[in-house]
Amino acid sequence: MSEYTITYIKNENPKEKPQSDQLSFGKYFTDHMFIQDYNPERGWHNQRIVPYQPLTLDPAAIVFHYGQTVFEGLKAYRTKRNNIQLFRPDKNMERLNRSNDRLCIPQIDEEFAIDAIKHLVHIDQDWVPNAPGTSLYIRPFVISTEPYLGVSPSATYQFIVILSPVGAYYEAGINPVKIAVENQFVRAVKGGTGEAKTAGNYASSLKAQEIVSKEGYAQVLWLDGVEKKYIEEVGSMNVFFKINGEIVTPELNGSILEGVTRNSVIQMLNHWGLPVKESKITMEELYQHYQNGELEEAFGSGTAAVISPIGELAWEGKKMVINDSKTGPIAKRLYETLTGIQYGTEDDLFNWTTKVSYK
Ligand SMILES: *Cc1c(COP(=O)(O)O)cnc(C)c1O
Repeated sequence: MSEYTITYIKNENPKEKPQSDQLSFGKYFTDHMFIQDYNPERGWHNQRIVPYQPLTLDPAAIVFHYGQTVFEGLKAYRTKRNNIQLFRPDKNMERLNRSNDRLCIPQIDEEFAIDAIKHLVHIDQDWVPNAPGTSLYIRPFVISTEPYLGVSPSATYQFIVILSPVGAYYEAGINPVKIAVENQFVRAVKGGTGEAKTAGNYASSLKAQEIVSKEGYAQVLWLDGVEKKYIEEVGSMNVFFKINGEIVTPELNGSILEGVTRNSVIQMLNHWGLPVKESKITMEELYQHYQNGELEEAFGSGTAAVISPIGELAWEGKKMVINDSKTGPIAKRLYETLTGIQYGTEDDLFNWTTKVSYK
């Protein structure tokens, strides 16, 4: 049990809930939110669940000017038995604290944060949709609130959790996408903030995404920020390749964001006797393997899509069609197994799920 108590102010004007076929991603928000405040004297305090509402912040708040902020993303799933469960929230809270450390934000109590998330999801449980593939997206985040234009860490913060019912990522079944290898812009560099889930990384990724989406690609494949040789991530997902029977993913190098899904994919593949090689991999090498007919599968991994197969890669005027632009067997098996665990239809071999129950 944690030492904090959570005050609850009920929303007396609940919203109408959207139809499950209209959800898409991040468009609707539930009736309540969790907030706690930080100051140096009291640490994290005033834990509360209150009606979902706008924030009032000083226009000089550091978050608006220097982006001292971090976030997380995880989901609550409604099972066939009508339980609601979370998938590895401990990993998300661990990562939130690693991001906090990088951004000079004080650490949060991870166990308490999981309790607070469960409490909030329990209160808004009717917002967890039940159509196949739908879920309740959970967005914990920390903002720096001190009004000060000097460049230094804020003295004060708010940790907030909001919830958003989201639609099925694949409405017509898991489906490969076209990806453009990004040669001009970079997402992150070693020594920068790529390892942290922080706003600046996403702001800097928008331009590349805007350009390639006009050319008909779903996402970019990011190369390393120094030599633009080594493969790092795909959009905001980690990336895996099956080359000549072996599964490879870029090794964590200081600029790659370590996904909870990436970690789960590696554990699951190990369990299946398919060890994953974590190593540096260049675009040049990948292209060679492709030309030799050895590139068997490529897919991204992340909370939103779970597994996103790559059907086509465009690189320096060359087009690489992978597995006939069809979902490969490994991607399919991973997708079915991981989503099966999340929705409670597959054995939870590694104890990855935790029920939302709160008295
Ligand atoms: C969130 C994120 C991922 C995936 O992480 P998951 O924990 O698997 O959702 C990968 N790359 C980037 C850049 C991300 O922001």
